[in-house]
Amino acid sequence: MKKTRNTPAKAAIVKVLSESHQALSHAEILEKTQQVCDRVTVYRILDRLLTSDIIHKTVTAEGVVKYAFCRHEAHHDHNHVHFNCTRCQKTECLSLPIPEFKLPHAYTVHDMNFTLTGVCPECQVV
Ligand SMILES: [Zn+2]
Ligand SMILES: [Zn+2]
Repeated sequence: MKKTRNTPAKAAIVKVLSESHQALSHAEILEKTQQVCDRVTVYRILDRLLTSDIIHKTVTAEGVVKYAFCRHEAHHDHNHVHFNCTRCQKTECLSLPIPEFKLPHAYTVHDMNFTLTGVCPECQVV
């Protein structure tokens, strides 16, 4: 297999995620980048972007993994709340910090996934 660095593919994925105001699933990312990437490439690049802190992931109540671009604002924190709309299935990053939990002694948290499920502003019935 050729050892390419998947630059056009990586650029396409970063572009899709940075221009999206919501978190996208692997399938949604693939759909938008299929001219330049295949399934495996998308997985590999997403993994690389996750390790380099360019994107982060969140899991919806249905267990769908979604990826979101890290907006480097005042302070960079992946531990923010995600909102999953049950009507349009959209997952958004909310700039709300996850509450601190007082864990029993000897528990160490490495990762937190805090997803609220409900109805987003666009789907509210007036
Ligand atoms: Zn919605
Ligand atoms: Zn997020």
